[in-house]
Amino acid sequence: MAERIVLLPGDGIGPEVTEQARRVLVAAGAKVGLEFDFVEESIGGCSIDAYGTPLRDEVVEACRSSRAVLLGAVGGPKWDDLPVDIRPEKGLLGIRKALGLFANLRPATVLPALVDASALRPEIVEGVDMLVVRELTGGIYFGEPRGRSGERGNRSATNAMAYDEHEIERITRVAFEQARLRRRHVTHVHKANVLDVSQLWVEVVDEVARDYPDVELAHQLVDSCAMLLVQEPRRFDVIVTGNLFGDILSDEAAMITGSLGMLPSASLAVGGFGLFEPVHGSAPDIAGKDLANPLAAIQSVAMLLETSFGAKEAAGSIRRAVAAVLDAGHRSGDLLLPGETRETVGCRRMGELVLEALDRA
Ligand code: NAD
Repeated sequence: MAERIVLLPGDGIGPEVTEQARRVLVAAGAKVGLEFDFVEESIGGCSIDAYGTPLRDEVVEACRSSRAVLLGAVGGPKWDDLPVDIRPEKGLLGIRKALGLFANLRPATVLPALVDASALRPEIVEGVDMLVVRELTGGIYFGEPRGRSGERGNRSATNAMAYDEHEIERITRVAFEQARLRRRHVTHVHKANVLDVSQLWVEVVDEVARDYPDVELAHQLVDSCAMLLVQEPRRFDVIVTGNLFGDILSDEAAMITGSLGMLPSASLAVGGFGLFEPVHGSAPDIAGKDLANPLAAIQSVAMLLETSFGAKEAAGSIRRAVAAVLDAGHRSGDLLLPGETRETVGCRRMGELVLEALDRA
């Protein structure tokens, strides 16, 4: 039976990269007996243009009755002057909320062929392969009370960081399960020397860890983690942390790889249902020109196969195909180093090269 996947290509380069990712998903899935039935829907600016809203209820319903969602990107200058409530980004926040996507997974891997793309020295970043697991629906971004009060000269503002043990436990379990698929090491990042919330995290993470005796656990203060990420990034396997620290550290980890066009992500709900998307935005400056790098979207479908279908081998075959294409010297424009003059390939061609490499495998 065909597995239903909702495609939300979105705006800018979203449709271009999603199309290449879809083709790779079909090819890699076929090799392990998976067949897909794609339903394409609108989100973000294109949905505003067609329906007057960035996210329709029908789209949420379609996602709920699917096995997984593949999203491109949303937004662009065309919609920048709209009121905040009907901006494209509202569609993204809306779908994350409606689907209860509490766990954000952001791998940061330095491929041998791209080791020079990092701002850090090659000998530091060579072999980096980590996964940041960020709690996405709680913590200080949502805590109550919040707000501002007072007049000029007497103004104050409040945000509250609050977590209950259920929220901490479920994200910690995601991290430990992911660690079992990797090098079996979890680093919990916190600020327990000053925050009560972090002290609860340490307690609950320790309790969950007892169910995973095969996975090693370390607790790390967020400030020293920020330093270690640039000093010794190879030491990290899975990092688990709350919303605020995760927001900052996942971007720091991403930048160690140096290439925005390469980074995939997954956001998971209870039960493992997932939405998969590249980390980059809609890149309006290159949209519609066949210049986008589809590899972040393509690596997002590798995560989809692994997470939603347990198809680890199919995911691995995509990652190996991507590495082979880069090892053979092919680059999209965003992957060129300053001063480098080699010929580049466009979005469609990059997708074809991955398909060819998959075929050869
Ligand atoms: P961006 O990620 O779209 O682009 C930043 C730079 O990286 C641009 O120069 C762009 O050309 C380049 N780039 C990004 N992805 C690329 C790819 N796959 N291949 C080649 N080059 C790539 O970020 P931005 O410019 O800050 O934002 C543009 C729009 O995207 C805004 O409307 C923003 O709100 C939106 N945005 C959406 C998401 C999302 O949908 N998840 C995330 C970030 C930004």
